[in-house]
Amino acid sequence: MAGTKRVCIVGGGSSGLTSIKACLEEGLEPVCFEKTDQLGGLWRYRDDDSDGLASVMRSTIINSSKEMSAYSDFPPPKEFPNYMHNSYMIRYIEMYAEKFDLGQHIRYRHEILKVVENHDFDETGRWKVTIRDIDKNISFDDVYDGVMVYLSTRRGCWIIHRVGPNGMPFDATFLKRSWNTIWRSIPYSLLCYLSENYINNRFNHEIYQIKPKHRIFGQHPMVNDALPNRILSGTVELKGNIKAFTEKGVIFEEEEEEREADVIILATGYKIQFPFIDEKILSIENNNVDLYKYVIPPKLKHPSLAFIALAQPVGALFPIGEIQARWFALLMSKKAKLPPFGDMMADIKKKRADMAKRYFESPRNTIQIDWIPYMDEVSSLINAKPKLFNILLTDPGFFWHCVFGPCLPYQYRLNGPHPWPDARKTIMTYKDRVHYALKTRYSSRTKEVVQSPGFLKLVTSFLFLILLAFILSVLF
Ligand SMILES: Cc1cc2nc3c(=O)[nH]c(=O)nc-3n(C[C@H](O)[C@H](O)[C@H](O)COP(=O)(O)OP(=O)(O)OC[C@H]3O[C@@H](n4cnc5c(N)ncnc54)[C@H](O)[C@@H]3O)c2cc1C
Repeated sequence: MAGTKRVCIVGGGSSGLTSIKACLEEGLEPVCFEKTDQLGGLWRYRDDDSDGLASVMRSTIINSSKEMSAYSDFPPPKEFPNYMHNSYMIRYIEMYAEKFDLGQHIRYRHEILKVVENHDFDETGRWKVTIRDIDKNISFDDVYDGVMVYLSTRRGCWIIHRVGPNGMPFDATFLKRSWNTIWRSIPYSLLCYLSENYINNRFNHEIYQIKPKHRIFGQHPMVNDALPNRILSGTVELKGNIKAFTEKGVIFEEEEEEREADVIILATGYKIQFPFIDEKILSIENNNVDLYKYVIPPKLKHPSLAFIALAQPVGALFPIGEIQARWFALLMSKKAKLPPFGDMMADIKKKRADMAKRYFESPRNTIQIDWIPYMDEVSSLINAKPKLFNILLTDPGFFWHCVFGPCLPYQYRLNGPHPWPDARKTIMTYKDRVHYALKTRYSSRTKEVVQSPGFLKLVTSFLFLILLAFILSVLF
């Protein structure tokens, strides 16, 4: 493979795997280093507590539904539950690796210790990577054309639930292009007011003493179905901050009495860190990172280093990592280009300013993105954003699904590099798979799914267009 660019991928988690695939699609040579002996990253549940290794808990269930969390050309099996337990999630990741034969590109029990610019970086953009073979306990250097890095990531909060209207997955109900257009057209305070009312209809955050000071879109929401039920039945009690730790327990603020505790869990969040990358390349202050589109350090002379899935979307992270990896693979194969340094910095500053207006200042709120706008933004850099106007003219029924149905990751394989021929069919049959997972009674699996009538879809589309025209005429 003389002349083929070699890309070093740090970590064999869900982002590392989709990065391997994106490199293969672009004719690059990926070499992925994983410090454990298995792929899957934090979705591989570990009983033991190993330093520096993230793991889900035994009971963790994904909080983004399976169709919204899918890789864009590989839907999870229809039998898998809509919100997968981590044992299903890891199986899905393994199936993705098996289907595209990604495992052969991973070197297990190899840890990346350092990534520095190679002596010829200015001319070539290459990186010198120091790797430790854990079993042999030896370190060695190797040179790569590009490097892709994985992500590892007191007040009240707004709680959204997995079960949405009609019992359908909540994220699939609201992450729709139609809603997105309306949300972006109405004033922010009205949007918050309507959404908070909707959420409070399930349980009143004020009465449950969990209402935060910030508005609903001012912080990443929490997804939990059990908490209100637990509070209502008295098995969970809300308290304020911890004032002091005592020998046997804690004292909460506004209380004098000591409360005994068997176990204290510090769920205090994540710190963004890349110890193997020099601060000159990426400085991180209070979790603030200067990355163009949250992926590329803009100061580098060559765009040959990428941070994949270093973002916090209201929605699933897997498709975000995938679209970022596809973009970076195109940058490496010189089929995509970055704008000038000044434009990239202006984009970073604008994003930071927009975030400051909406989110309260906290190390937690530094990499926030909105799912549909961000996916559209990055996909448009590689021409993979769905061409909705063309779809409207040539395939109106399908347009309805793209705009009024959930914005499924498969939309980003309709056009652009490496499209997936089954993307349209997979979008059209989304409901079948959601319903199928619920049909666990033997006889029900043979019955047809009831689709909503075409006439209703036509009326809904018409009403939406009138509403949109009204909003636009009021605003402009
Ligand atoms: C509890 C929890 C629940 C979540 N739930 C969801 C959800 O419902 N939906 C969603 O979309 N996202 C969710 N996320 C976000 C999650 O980060 C992503 O889903 C995804 O796992 C990120 O994958 P990754 O490959 O970037 O990182 P990881 O899964 O953390 O994988 C990183 C890999 O890199 C390896 N590694 C680390 N350092 C080195 C090194 N120096 N050298 C070599 N290898 C190294 C690690 O061993 C690991 O295998 C959740 C996160 C957590 C913590």
